Amino acid sequence: MSMQVNETLIREVVAEVLGRLGQGPAPVSAAKTTAAPAATSSPRRSGKKYGVFQDANEACEAAQAAFEQLSAKGVAGRRKVVEIVKEICYSRAVEWGKLELDETKIGRLDHKIEKLKGLRAVPGVEFLQPNGMSGDHGITLEEYAPFGVIGAVTPSTHSIPTMACNIISMVAAGNAIVFNAHPGAYKCAVTAARVFNEAIEHELGIENLACIIEPPTLESFAAISKNERVRILCVTGGPGVVKAAMSSGKRAICAGPGNPPVLVDGTSCLDRAAASVVLGAAYDNNLLCIGEKEVFVLESVFDKFMAALEKNGGFRLKDSQVEKLAKAAFVFPPGQGAGCAQPVVNRNLIGRNPAVLAQEAGVNIPAGTQLLFAETHAEHLFVEEEQMMPFLPIVRVKSVEEGIEAARKAERGYKHSAMIHSHDVGHMTAMAKALDTTLFVKNGPCIAGLGNGGEGYSNFSIATTTGEGICSPKTFTRVRRCVMVDKLRIF
Ligand code: NAD
Repeated sequence: MSMQVNETLIREVVAEVLGRLGQGPAPVSAAKTTAAPAATSSPRRSGKKYGVFQDANEACEAAQAAFEQLSAKGVAGRRKVVEIVKEICYSRAVEWGKLELDETKIGRLDHKIEKLKGLRAVPGVEFLQPNGMSGDHGITLEEYAPFGVIGAVTPSTHSIPTMACNIISMVAAGNAIVFNAHPGAYKCAVTAARVFNEAIEHELGIENLACIIEPPTLESFAAISKNERVRILCVTGGPGVVKAAMSSGKRAICAGPGNPPVLVDGTSCLDRAAASVVLGAAYDNNLLCIGEKEVFVLESVFDKFMAALEKNGGFRLKDSQVEKLAKAAFVFPPGQGAGCAQPVVNRNLIGRNPAVLAQEAGVNIPAGTQLLFAETHAEHLFVEEEQMMPFLPIVRVKSVEEGIEAARKAERGYKHSAMIHSHDVGHMTAMAKALDTTLFVKNGPCIAGLGNGGEGYSNFSIATTTGEGICSPKTFTRVRRCVMVDKLRIF
């Protein structure tokens, strides 16, 4: 027994030393792989791709070969991959959080780290329980089978987290993937993909299970969409990519845009409501698609709620400051004035710190301010557009009915997410029915909808547009039925 332990230990040490010298196999466990920062061998020296391809069609072929290798490894192989990806994200959360922030310049480091660590809550193979039926005519089993290769597109707002949770869900379901990341957030994704693929190869001998295109382009997306190896697409992003995926001719799972409204009716604790709203809207500087983007508050409690926002880390802007900020936050197509029907959000202000927005508004704010907010009218640009900035417009409404109708309009039919702070079940039901959103959170921040402070599992792809809901391994499966007629029943 002790001899065996010693032998294993010696093998691990030798493997690690060789790995560090770039001369041999890397460490034997996922935890060790992540603990050895220099262990990633040079792809140039080894000639290995580790999932990174310039050519989309080559990536699709490599992913098909990886899918076949994964199939041969069974459920145990998939389980190992899930474990590796979660473990690497956890142990490299600080390093990769910084890497992503350095590249994209959007969001907050503390939340980027939390998002990577939180991937442990993304479900794996255990989520796929077969569905059994038994009766006088025998036994039938429905199984959740893989598609094969999935083409996936990830957003700039959470590049590594979305890629990682896509890998977890898709590989748990038995698939391989080819990613086209956002051009402004692909370098960090390529780094992460290399590390994942290298660890997977060392553990399981499967090469290129999660491929990525370097650099991603519209042409590489088109090539992935057309490639016959790719069985389905999964896109996470705004209206443009959803439209492109849905017109590709392939089945597409679309995690599309949102503009989540909040209703505060004054029947619940205002302080708790304000704390939840600040937490959700300030999260990663309001980059979350589920994040609180506008709040409708009953007139009778409006002033108290505004004071509670200030108490909970919000900074209130004056009207003139909001208008100054709006001029900087929205740009209009050339040749058209501020009355243009199609404003575009200024990308330079998306996901920036409150202090940056405050500077645009012409005001100094105290250190530690989480969120800027102000009273606006219901048709304000900040209400109507998905602005993804730590500024929250608060709208005064006369009745719950008016608040629900204004929230419905602001949500724009995306059917994405909404929140209510209320103890009145009638109000909750009326809002749920009117908005018909995929996620509806009562008395908590938006993140409670993804298992952070609320019950339920987590994922960064929420298939709102096409209706699959919060993605899980099941989302990426085909249901296959196996029927045994007569005989096999045990009674
Ligand atoms: P984006 O739409 O600019 O880009 C998303 C991805 O789509 C990127 O990889 C981009 O390169 C690609 N893309 C864009 N237009 C394309 C086209 N015509 N053809 C092919 N690919 C195209 O969005 P973003 O700024 O990266 O992310 C923010 C948006 O994503 C917001 O609208 C947000 O609500 C949404 N989002 C949704 C979810 C969800 O789960 N529903 C999650 C995160 C982000």
